[in-house]
Amino acid sequence: MRDSHPVYLVGAGPGDPELLTLKAVRVLREATVVMVDDLVGEQVLDAVFGDAPRPRVVQVGKRGHRAGATPQAFIEKLLVREALAGERVVRLKGGDPLVFGRAGEEMSALHEAGVEVRVVNGITSGLAAVNALGVGWTDRRAGAQGVLLLTGHAQAGGAAPDWAAAARLAAGGTTLVIYMGVQQAGAICAALREVLPADWPAAVVQQASLGAQRHALSTLEALPRLLVAQGFASPAILVIGPVLAQARALADEDLLAWAVRQSG
Ligand code: SAH
Repeated sequence: MRDSHPVYLVGAGPGDPELLTLKAVRVLREATVVMVDDLVGEQVLDAVFGDAPRPRVVQVGKRGHRAGATPQAFIEKLLVREALAGERVVRLKGGDPLVFGRAGEEMSALHEAGVEVRVVNGITSGLAAVNALGVGWTDRRAGAQGVLLLTGHAQAGGAAPDWAAAARLAAGGTTLVIYMGVQQAGAICAALREVLPADWPAAVVQQASLGAQRHALSTLEALPRLLVAQGFASPAILVIGPVLAQARALADEDLLAWAVRQSG
């Protein structure tokens, strides 16, 4: 290892700054350069630094970036360059850095340059989404024996998830948690329905853990239309499986309370 500080890949959690870890806060406060993803809201840095002086913050978003998306290779070069220049570098990513965050590529680039990498876990947005729905992702009463985290967005030139295989696991008691799935929801739900019934529970949660959080409960058949009709958009998570039955019961109770209020 060369004589550089370790680079920290830090999870910012799903959005609510109170879900940052103490370790994330500490390494951010020790940083001289922070390279931040789009998904990390300004409120996270506000919570960490308040009015205190901030490190240099470099926005390296993949979308909504003024000059277009920052290419992954550029991010990796910049990480290496800043680390070798003696900076204390934090790469701040939404959720957990190891969940669909391209951390692997960044770790490889740093290792090849002889720079040590340390990862600080964050709460992944899929977990926050399940929490927003008021269910557990492995509720035994719903027969859920595990969870499958999937991407709904195939990598350029790469293969999409094997939805038939995922559906077979779901039928046997696995909750599906799909990241980046809103745009492809029609194709995903159609593929899952090859194996699963049309009324299999499905839900969406947008902006989990944030003030703007919203969700809807539905079925595999109805979800794609609902997403369009109600204008759901990224960042959002799709949750599919019988664990949602609990959320439905809650929703029905809300409805009942509403009906009682109306009649009273
Ligand atoms: N490393 C991140 C995931 C990066 S992929 C994590 O662990 O959460 C980006 C996808 O994450 C988005 O397209 C969306 O599907 C999901 N996502 C991130 N933040 C979210 C949030 N607050 N609410 C719902 N989905 C979110």
